[in-house]
Amino acid sequence: MNNGEKKMERSLRWGMIGGGRTSQVGYKHRSGALRDRTYELVAGAFDIDSERGKSFGVNLGVDKNRCYDDYQTLIEEEAKRTDCVEVVSIATPNGTHYEITMAALEAGLHVICEKPLVFTTKEAEEIKAFAEQQGLIVGVTYGYSGNSIILQMRSMIEQNKIGDIHLVEMQYTHGYAGNSQGDKDNAAQKWRVDPKIAGPTFVIGDLSIHTYYISKLVLPHLSIKKLLCDRQSFVGSRYPLEDNAYVLMHYDNGAVGRMWTSAVDSGQMDGQRIRIVGSTGSLEWWDSAPNELLYQPQGAPNQTLYRGAEYLDDLAKQNERLGILHQEGLTEAWGNIYLNIALAIDAKNRGDEETLSQLIYPDIDSGIEGVRWIENCVASADQGSQWVEYQ
Ligand code: NAD
Repeated sequence: MNNGEKKMERSLRWGMIGGGRTSQVGYKHRSGALRDRTYELVAGAFDIDSERGKSFGVNLGVDKNRCYDDYQTLIEEEAKRTDCVEVVSIATPNGTHYEITMAALEAGLHVICEKPLVFTTKEAEEIKAFAEQQGLIVGVTYGYSGNSIILQMRSMIEQNKIGDIHLVEMQYTHGYAGNSQGDKDNAAQKWRVDPKIAGPTFVIGDLSIHTYYISKLVLPHLSIKKLLCDRQSFVGSRYPLEDNAYVLMHYDNGAVGRMWTSAVDSGQMDGQRIRIVGSTGSLEWWDSAPNELLYQPQGAPNQTLYRGAEYLDDLAKQNERLGILHQEGLTEAWGNIYLNIALAIDAKNRGDEETLSQLIYPDIDSGIEGVRWIENCVASADQGSQWVEYQ
């Protein structure tokens, strides 16, 4: 159990790029980063509107002299300080991730970047090579992947509790972008349907990438062999970006999988699900009941495993915070992601490759894998929803 005791000698000096007053995701970063005292927010270029960003930063308690007009000034000015920022989070729209990440790495800063990391695997591989050359960590914030009961799922699959893997069922849908109004009125919605800023997809990169990463986390040894993606734009003005997609997968071990992702699932507020079916049982998790893992062994009664319980595996227990009572959810999952990235940065700084190899967190390879998923979905959809060999 994580009860908040110090895990590192000192806090990392942390800065934020984006994630300003009006942003959807900024609070999740701060809530995740600041809860374990592994980060101290010392600087920011929080907003595309520099005045709004500076007033916001001051309200967060950041020294006004370290609330900058833009990320370039942040990097330049911080480099002059002995107590300069050492890690930055990038919580800006997708199309800016590549240039900001590369600039931060160039300046010797570790990076925590939003998903999707970039638009192409080529760019993602470039980031990896450069980060390695610079001796720096790049983490990617796939929200729920830090949830302790998801890690229980990984642990049980590893222990062969459901046998050989046959089916991977995934869903990430909501219904609150079901018409075009938000595309005009809501700034965060507007860029999501603009390919110049969002990249080659809407819901595939915005939603399904999360569940896809969870599948990689719980099934680390399974790889997709081929895939078929069928995508639609129910709101026509979003074309060529999709607001709904179905994806079928064939895996290298003979398993098959299915992903449904949608922003037009009317009435659905938040529907993320993963169900893994094996030869001797199944495991299922829904984000609407994030503390519970359904375990269905074939020929025996179903069990609902509960976060924080004594009977869970060590991996799950190490990553929970509140004990058996009460509920944990997305914010604790973010806390775990940020904590593990901090431990990775600390290990990297100390040259402790042994610790680094044991930490489970969404790293640069997870960022690359997310982009690869998007690219393969688009390749299939653009060929008229043909099966394509997974590249
Ligand atoms: P948003 O439009 O709500 O907010 C973007 C923020 O970035 C705003 O504060 C804006 O002023 C600022 N910004 C834009 N360009 C900037 C720049 N060049 N320099 C500094 N600040 C800049 O977007 P959002 O929904 O918060 O999404 C941001 C990123 O986070 C996207 O990549 C998105 O995919 C991702 N996201 C991830 C999750 C998750 O669960 N991990 C959830 C939502 C969004």
